[in-house]
Amino acid sequence: MISVNSRDFLFTPIAEFLIPAEKVAHVQIGNNAEHALLVLTKTGYSAIPVLDAQNRLKGLLGIGTITDSILGLERIEFERLDHIKVDEIMQTDIPNIKTTDRFQKGLDLLINHPFLCVTDEEGVFAGILTRRVVLKQFKKYIYSAQ
Ligand code: AMP
Repeated sequence: MISVNSRDFLFTPIAEFLIPAEKVAHVQIGNNAEHALLVLTKTGYSAIPVLDAQNRLKGLLGIGTITDSILGLERIEFERLDHIKVDEIMQTDIPNIKTTDRFQKGLDLLINHPFLCVTDEEGVFAGILTRRVVLKQFKKYIYSAQ
């Protein structure tokens, strides 16, 4: 996939490196924060995408955001979890990256994000690009170039 003699891989479409949507844990608009916390805790992921009923990407939700939303003055108010909807607290200012974008764009954005949510041209969630996958590609490239 990665050419040793050139930097072609920098121009490879991101689609080739995706963890596909069907393998990505997610929550849906309208789910409550308790459900999201359960999914995050069970999967061990730090953050997961929030999708609408048409599988369009709407945001990202992490454990820290959930905890912050139930932080009271003196304690964490767990009883509020089932009243809070994921769409009220999710992060919406997330990088915009598409399946047709080049690997190089993903690489640049992954410096500040552990993974990127990728959509098709209609905004439908296609999957994620993770630092782990990118590092594996680099490892292959570097070792095969020796
Ligand atoms: P990794 O590079 O595999 O350690 O993943 C980094 C982050 O990407 C995780 O903490 C999750 O937030 C997200 N992630 C990776 N794989 C998945 C997946 N299959 N479903 C949902 N989120 C994932």
